[in-house]
Amino acid sequence: MYHCEHLIKIYTFIFIIGLSMPLSSRLLANPFHDPTQIHLDTPQLDLLTNSFSSTPLDRNLLTAQALPVLRIDIAWDEASDSFNYVQGKIERSGTEYLEAKSQVYPHHGSFIGVLQDSSGQKRYSSIGTGQEFRRLSRGLAFRFPAPSSASVFKLIAEDPISGNMVERLMVNIDPSQAESIRPLDDIDTRLIKSATASPVIRLVVYAEGYTEQGRERFFNKSKKVAASFADSNLPTEANLEIIAAFTPSKLALGTPRNLGTPVPERDSFLGLYYPYWNNFGRWYHVVYPTRFQKYRDAIAQVPYDYPLALIDSNQYWGVGNYMELTAIPAESTSFRYLLLHEFGHFLGLNEEYEGGGRTELEFAPGITEPWSQNITFNPGAGELKWANHLAPETPLPTPREHWNPSQSGPLGAYQGGYADSASGKSFKPGFSCIMETSQNFCLICQRGIFDEFISWQKGRPEFAFGQNH
Ligand SMILES: [Zn+2]
Repeated sequence: MYHCEHLIKIYTFIFIIGLSMPLSSRLLANPFHDPTQIHLDTPQLDLLTNSFSSTPLDRNLLTAQALPVLRIDIAWDEASDSFNYVQGKIERSGTEYLEAKSQVYPHHGSFIGVLQDSSGQKRYSSIGTGQEFRRLSRGLAFRFPAPSSASVFKLIAEDPISGNMVERLMVNIDPSQAESIRPLDDIDTRLIKSATASPVIRLVVYAEGYTEQGRERFFNKSKKVAASFADSNLPTEANLEIIAAFTPSKLALGTPRNLGTPVPERDSFLGLYYPYWNNFGRWYHVVYPTRFQKYRDAIAQVPYDYPLALIDSNQYWGVGNYMELTAIPAESTSFRYLLLHEFGHFLGLNEEYEGGGRTELEFAPGITEPWSQNITFNPGAGELKWANHLAPETPLPTPREHWNPSQSGPLGAYQGGYADSASGKSFKPGFSCIMETSQNFCLICQRGIFDEFISWQKGRPEFAFGQNH
């Protein structure tokens, strides 16, 4: 059961915090691509970080308690723009949240996997934002609770021209033929934070590009992850259980370079690197798996719902893509901002800033409405998807002059967002959101995160805003 009273308390608290935010946090449209415009971490965040600890866990016990998962690996062939079945793999990585979420058709994601067993029961899994995702990841992995009988897998994907969701692949799967992933021995696993609300969502923080000497530094940064979430208005913060997993990497991330083709597999724990293979705008400001199967095998070493890579880097970059990965530089002086902004992308949110070139989270050119919760191509009265959360007198679309910077509001549907992709077509809720350059999520993004969180539940509870606009 969902705890409505608990949520109401949370949102009342968020509302009070929102009122007390300093003027300096209410920024206008500062481009995210300019690091000098981004908030730096505060000394208070360090104090909060020190209030968390890292308690050793028995990883063998964690995996023994995990639900078995069937992972379906699909490779993407660039020359023919086709998807091909690679293999099924068994992971000991599943949670109750995965089990529950897999039962409902996904609200979000540009690539949806459907697995139907011989009794007719269907399970669902979705991943990726937009049509560029296939070029960046070059493969897709879908996780399902392992079926006990022969099954049929279907891939439904965003058509890269029309944007329509179309069936691209169908394959028969025999789960008894799937190999188990190889367990690694030396993973130091520690509990950073327990969940205080149900259902529990497990976020696992993975060390990427660290040498042995960085072990304790990594766990301290994992505490900073917990502190950053605690110091935010993330609606599901209380549901997060945070576990950190360390194993040394042979290679550090280093600076962005074009390493040629075929793309060499990065010899680090997760195998992440700057995706120079898709020369897409600011490729040097993001990382993606050099081998998606290596990445998936590595993160499955600890049962997880949400993976987060902390990379031993102090460069300015950060990546989040829907249900694939969140990765940020652990030594950034804007750690909190990068973490929350990129985690927002992991949960489906799109950019609320303009400039910086096209976004890698770009949908197909023919799409009529992005599924991202916080941007729209349909801002008019009677069609705006977040209209229920606006003051009734708000003009739609909302003229720029309607925004009052001194009040950080009111929310509406203002032209902007979506970086430089489809300029002029995109509208966003306002000008005070961490999906732009502000300190916290706007109320529409809070609602969008909440939607993602409860998308598996039948009979959705009403979202308890502290106020309606
Ligand atoms: Zn927002």
